[in-house]
Amino acid sequence: MKKSELPTQDPSEQYRSAEGLSRRTMLKGLAAVGIAAVPPSTSSAETNRDELDRRVAESSPTPGTSQSELDSARMAEVVRFTAETLTTDHPIPFGALIVNTATGELLQKAVNAVGQENDPSSHAELRTVRLACKKLGSSSLHGYTLYTTCEPCPMCMADLLWAGIDRVVYGATIEDASRHCLQIHISAAEVVRRSDIKCEITGPVERDLAYTTLFTHPNMLKAFELWKQGSQAKQK
Ligand SMILES: [Zn+2]
Repeated sequence: MKKSELPTQDPSEQYRSAEGLSRRTMLKGLAAVGIAAVPPSTSSAETNRDELDRRVAESSPTPGTSQSELDSARMAEVVRFTAETLTTDHPIPFGALIVNTATGELLQKAVNAVGQENDPSSHAELRTVRLACKKLGSSSLHGYTLYTTCEPCPMCMADLLWAGIDRVVYGATIEDASRHCLQIHISAAEVVRRSDIKCEITGPVERDLAYTTLFTHPNMLKAFELWKQGSQAKQK
């Protein structure tokens, strides 16, 4: 896949079901998507804040939908988006999306691209923040919420704090991910606790859906093996 083809935006609304996802979990996830599907965004680099504000004003969550239902729906959406990589040459279990906290309007979504960009900082969350800020023409994500398939690492959590994002909602945990790849064992909540910046952390949300769909897919398990061989070679 060429860099220009990196899935920074959902190319299709078609869900490619992942092997290893239990029927109950998948139905639950899809039902959650049905509760409040996030509207697709036009990904023009010129999209400015005024235009986004206008689109935000035009869409709002269904009255009566609880925050936890919305969180589940958006987690299912980011899992679905990320799962699209599993049948590509670069399977990735890490994806993130940013929505307007008040309205749920989608601003940006992206997956981890460390390998493709040869950039150790190209984690899904950091990359999504970078693209979102560029789109807004602002370094502030105050008024926005990030959903991520896995609890942010300390690097990404620090970036989210510097961006002043309102909320971070995660699916699988750092401990879940550490069964498959190297992790830094400092929780997102701990990073927030030791900072001067406020940010609400919610998670795990739809942990089973995120973990089972993304981390235990056969293509992902094969990719993890290759990652492991790569990091062992670096340490020699
Ligand atoms: Zn990270």
